[in-house]
Amino acid sequence: MKNKIIIANWKDNPATLVETEELFKAEIYIAKRYENVQTVICPPTEFLEQLLQGGPVNRAALYGAQDVFWPENSKPTVPISHVLVGHSERRYDLGETDEIVNQKLKAVLEEGIVPVLFVGERGGESREEILTVQLAKDLAGLSVEQVSKILFTYEPVWAISTNPGGHSDTPENALEAIKFIDDFLTINYKLKTKNYLYGGSVNENNVADFLKHPEISGVVVGKASLDSNRFLQILNATTMIL
Ligand code: PEP
Repeated sequence: MKNKIIIANWKDNPATLVETEELFKAEIYIAKRYENVQTVICPPTEFLEQLLQGGPVNRAALYGAQDVFWPENSKPTVPISHVLVGHSERRYDLGETDEIVNQKLKAVLEEGIVPVLFVGERGGESREEILTVQLAKDLAGLSVEQVSKILFTYEPVWAISTNPGGHSDTPENALEAIKFIDDFLTINYKLKTKNYLYGGSVNENNVADFLKHPEISGVVVGKASLDSNRFLQILNATTMIL
């Protein structure tokens, strides 16, 4: 793995294929300039095939899907390296249960693709209780080797920019949550190397505050990754702390 990883989660944006292609090209071009950072672009599901099918994909970046179509055919038809699993919008807006998250993790791992697993509290409940339940259920039945392949992302739901009042967590808080996840994995799986990401209102101004900590291997960026100029600044700020 490169020094730090930046996952651009575009969710349902941009709205049209033409705009999406434009942003895609712009961010691949930027990724090429910052080769010491691992960029993973997750375009809207609707346009994923058109963007990635036919012809070699530029290797300056990696590409991810925002979901896996379990239990139908989970075999990717396009060259993706990562799949987002358990994002809060799927858990809470679409009613995706931990049992479904667990099945999706298994499907992704079987295909040799890296699952990016999102865990985090909505706010107002006990963070530790939520994390414990999510981790225990999401990882049920997975081997130590399988768990070691997951990229764990602490993304508190309240911190997502598009949620009402959404603002980033403090790095100190995020580190505490990551330590809790790390303790869970150490106790239950005795894993030595683990990579943790943080997500929730990361932008060009705060990305370095998170990534300067060795415990945080990368970030998931939503809204700020939809503007190629902001994306460039995020990669630039990241290289400054490497
Ligand atoms: C997200 O929804 O995964 C996310 C990180 O969004 P934002 O950066 O906009 O908070």
